[in-house]
Amino acid sequence: MGQHILLRDLDIPDIGKLDVYVEHAGYAALRKALTSMGPDQVKQEVTNSGLRGRGGAGFPTGLKWSFVKGALPHYVVVNADESEPGTFKDRQLLEKNPHQVIEGAALAAFAVQAEKVYIYCRGEFAQPARALQSAVDKAYKAGYLGQNILGSGVTVDVAVHLGAGAYICGEETALLESLEGKIGQPRLRPPFPAVEGLYSRPTVINNVETLANVPYIILNGAAAYRRFGTEKSPGPKIYSLSGHVKRPGNYEAPLGAITFRDLIYGQEYGQGLLREGTEVKALMPSGASSTLITGDKLDTPLDYESVAGAGSMLGSASVIVMDSTTDIVWAMHKVIRFFKHESCGKCTPCREGTYWLLHIFERLAAGHGKPDDVELLCSVAGQMQNKCLCPLGEFAIAPILSSVNLFKDEYLAKVSQV
Ligand code: SF4
Repeated sequence: MGQHILLRDLDIPDIGKLDVYVEHAGYAALRKALTSMGPDQVKQEVTNSGLRGRGGAGFPTGLKWSFVKGALPHYVVVNADESEPGTFKDRQLLEKNPHQVIEGAALAAFAVQAEKVYIYCRGEFAQPARALQSAVDKAYKAGYLGQNILGSGVTVDVAVHLGAGAYICGEETALLESLEGKIGQPRLRPPFPAVEGLYSRPTVINNVETLANVPYIILNGAAAYRRFGTEKSPGPKIYSLSGHVKRPGNYEAPLGAITFRDLIYGQEYGQGLLREGTEVKALMPSGASSTLITGDKLDTPLDYESVAGAGSMLGSASVIVMDSTTDIVWAMHKVIRFFKHESCGKCTPCREGTYWLLHIFERLAAGHGKPDDVELLCSVAGQMQNKCLCPLGEFAIAPILSSVNLFKDEYLAKVSQV
C-alpha cells in the first residue's frame, strides 16, 4: 500500500521522537480538533470513517464512543494488554510510534469529554511502557497533554499503568478491575463500561491500534480513510505473522486487499514457508484462540467478513501458520496449557473445563490416550460452550473443537497408540 499509516516507523526513521513526529504532521489532528472541531464532530468523523476496533471484536469505534454520555467525569482507557499468543502489533506501535497512539487517545478523550486517559500495558511490557512513558513526558512538556492543551482550555492527562502479567486483563472489565487495584477478574455485564466503567463512571476502552488510526481520520477526513479497505471493513490493518514462515513480523495492508496466500508467500510479507517441500496445513487467523482453518482457504481476503465466511475470525489478525509437518495434537496441547494457566477461576465451567481438557491432552501427548478420549474432549468443551462468564472460555475451546473437527484422524492416532 506504499506508505504506511500505522507502521510509520518503517518509512520514517526516528518517528518515535517527538520532533520527528511533529515534522511529519504529528499532533496536527489534535490541533485541528481543538481549534476547529467540537467533540461531536470528532465523534461523527470517526463514525463516518467506519473504523472498527482492532483489538479483536471489530466493534464500530464511533458507535462505542457515542455510548459514553451523562454526568462527568468520563474516562478513556487504552487497552495495551496485548497478550494473545501470536499478537505483537501493539508492541511495535508503542515502542516505535508512541506519539500516534497518544495523539489518538487524546482525540478520543476530547471526543467523549474525558480529562483522564489510562494506558494499561501488560505486565511484561516493561520496555514498551518505558518508551511510552518517555513519549508521554515529552508530549506534556511540549503542551500536547496536560491542562489547557495548545491554549484550547481542554485538559487531557495521561497515566501509563503496568499490569501484573495476566492474559485475562486484556478482557476489558477485568482490566478495569485491575486498574482499580482489585484482582483482575471479569465483571458481570450489563452494565457495560460505557455506562459504568472505571470507578463506575462512563468509560471508553480502545485498543492501541484502533487509536493509532484516529489521527489520520481526523486530519484527512473519513472519506480519505475509506479509500483503504472494503465497504464493511475500512482502513489499514496490521497483520502479525508468525509460525512456519521465512519472514515473521508485522505487516500493514488495507483490509481485504491481500489474502492469506499473499501474506504468507508474498515477497514483501512472509516470503513463503520455512521448510522446503512443505505446504500450509492449518492457520490460526487470530492467535491462539482461533478457530482453525485449513490450507485450502489461502485465497480468502483478509477482512472481517471474508475470514468469517471461511469459518473463523479475523480478530486481531495474528496469523499463526502451521506447515504440513505440524503435529496438531501437540500444538493444541500447548494452546490448552496456556488457557488453563490463564483461566482466572471466577466461573466453574472455565476453571474446571480447562483443567480437565489439559488433563486429557497430557494423556494424549504422552501416548496414553484412552479409547474414548476424543469424545470426552468434545464433551468437556461442549459443557463449557456458552456457559462461561467471559470470552476466555470460548477462546479455549474454539481451537480444540475445530482441530478435532478438521484433524480427527490425528487425535484417533494418538488414542490407538495405547
Ligand atoms: Fe475467568 Fe475463565 Fe470465567 Fe473468564 S471464563 S471469568 S477467565 S474463569
